[in-house]
Amino acid sequence: MQSANKKGGISVQTEHIFPIIKKWLYSEKDIFLREIVSNAADAVTKLKRLESLGQYDSKGESYRLEVILDPDAKTLTVSDNGIGMTEEELDRYLCQIALSGALEFVQKYEDGNQNNGIIGHFGLGFYSSFMVSDTVEVITASYTGAPAVHWVCTSDGSFEMSAAEREGHGTSVIMHISDEEAEFLKESTVREILNKYCSFMPVEIYFSVSGKEDDKEAEAEATPVNDTTPLWLKSPSECTPEDYKAFYRKVFSDYKEPLFWIHINADYPLNFKGILYFPKIDTRFEPIEGQVKLYYNQVFVADNIKEVIPEYLLMLKGVLDCPELPLNVSRSYLQNNAYITKVSAHIVKKVADKLNSLCNTEREEYEKLWSDIRVFTEYTCMRDRKFYDRVKDSLLLELTNGSHVTLTEYLESAKETNENTVYYTTDKAMQAQYISMFEAQGIRVAVLDQPIEVQFVSTLESYSDGVKFLRIDADIAGALKGEEAVADGEALTALFKKASGEENLTVELLSLKDESVPLLLTVSEEARRMEDMMKYFAAAGNGFTPPPMPNDLKLTVNTASPLIRKLTEMSAEKQEAAATYLYRSALLSQKKLTAEELQSFLAAGYGLLELL
Ligand code: ADP
Repeated sequence: MQSANKKGGISVQTEHIFPIIKKWLYSEKDIFLREIVSNAADAVTKLKRLESLGQYDSKGESYRLEVILDPDAKTLTVSDNGIGMTEEELDRYLCQIALSGALEFVQKYEDGNQNNGIIGHFGLGFYSSFMVSDTVEVITASYTGAPAVHWVCTSDGSFEMSAAEREGHGTSVIMHISDEEAEFLKESTVREILNKYCSFMPVEIYFSVSGKEDDKEAEAEATPVNDTTPLWLKSPSECTPEDYKAFYRKVFSDYKEPLFWIHINADYPLNFKGILYFPKIDTRFEPIEGQVKLYYNQVFVADNIKEVIPEYLLMLKGVLDCPELPLNVSRSYLQNNAYITKVSAHIVKKVADKLNSLCNTEREEYEKLWSDIRVFTEYTCMRDRKFYDRVKDSLLLELTNGSHVTLTEYLESAKETNENTVYYTTDKAMQAQYISMFEAQGIRVAVLDQPIEVQFVSTLESYSDGVKFLRIDADIAGALKGEEAVADGEALTALFKKASGEENLTVELLSLKDESVPLLLTVSEEARRMEDMMKYFAAAGNGFTPPPMPNDLKLTVNTASPLIRKLTEMSAEKQEAAATYLYRSALLSQKKLTAEELQSFLAAGYGLLELL
């Protein structure tokens, strides 16, 4: 078989397939190197397996892959000392199997939209090398000692096979990079691709550039570009916090320390491993967008694949290695894949377990972390009822004094004063007056000041039986136990309606325990939430302008206040000026005044002084 040179054409269809491969996934051409390097790694893994079965003896030789760039010769070579191929095997694997694999792949997705598929991330196999090469050469020698073979294939699909010389067993794939793809002859490009896809491949990879032979280069060559035993493969009990942090810094180049992490090491029945980190995010300045890298047997596939990882977990950073991930599939297929569904459910459970264990065993630490993880936790609860059910006893409320209680603890302590009701503030400064009135009554006030929390409290109400959230300026009568006042109702009501300029203003007279506050404006919880949502959507853009809201303000006049009592004894002129001034002061705690309103507020104050 070896004697004569062999010539041939790969198959009738090749003239169709090569142009397609060439154009395939224009923006993701760099996967060719991942495909060729992982074939080389597989070749080593196969030989190692034979060795472990006693069918081969390496005599202590160390396995390695070489990636050699030669810009002058315009070649990129990937060499391994793995299993190699005999002539017959080469013919079968590269001319028939590899080709039919690539062909099937292309036929299946030829008409598909290039942008919608995860398929771009998975193997076109050996033939993806033709995306960047005019000619590909293979020199291979089988571990069996069969003669070496040289195979050359051009991008029109015609090949030549002949006898060759090769030192030792293994395979070298020499890609002659085409002129249009000269990008791949740059050292920095190749290094970047190796970094992206091959950082954790299981066989040591050495990268070198031909012609560069100074000491520094030689030294760099001696260091593999990859880490063959990434942290996620180790058992969690073998890893120290420093290991986790170092791995995080290396993979995500994030100088900030992660808050904590979850090491998932699932063997059976689910086979996948990974480490998920809770990053420290400054929500004021940074978008909450994490990075979850997906690997297939230590080979990088892609970042942030929504079909595998629930979208809310994409706020985290981490690595997941899913060796059972079905290859060559479309996104829609992944969405309905049982393995993927289980992986993603398992991750959610692990995250919930971690929060619960922190809350139960390291409460102090957990409270310190809360401000960093609350947006994530609340959002996840909103998106996933199951997650909420798991973590509901670990959800914290921050109180106005900076301390934390769980929702359960809050409700427990509120039994006497405000059963099943959580009072909250969205702005500690603006609503300070209300806060002090509530606290004087022994009622705790939670601080819910993130935009997401308007929706979060509605979600909590719908999940939990009977629990109600009320902002402190929504319900004075119920909370502060005011007694209905009898005196002079009609006159005071008329006075304040006039002072406010709002004929439809609801005026309520109460005798509150706290005498220092003459007037309080409240707005119904529902109306305010609605308005907040509208503002939220308006702020989010989309050209959405909120419709005008009905005026839901309600004025509570505290008849226990000495000022109000005095008011009833004043002359009509003074009464009106004072009432106007008081009303405006109350407005201040409900909203920011416009320039005009502020001006008239100040003018009213001056007018009042003149009357003195
Ligand atoms: P896949 O790797 O998905 O099987 P490929 O098209 O990449 O498909 O390769 C086809 C076959 O060619 C491989 O299954 C393997 O048997 C053989 N092969 C490719 N590269 C090498 C290599 N470096 N050493 C030994 N065999 C190889």
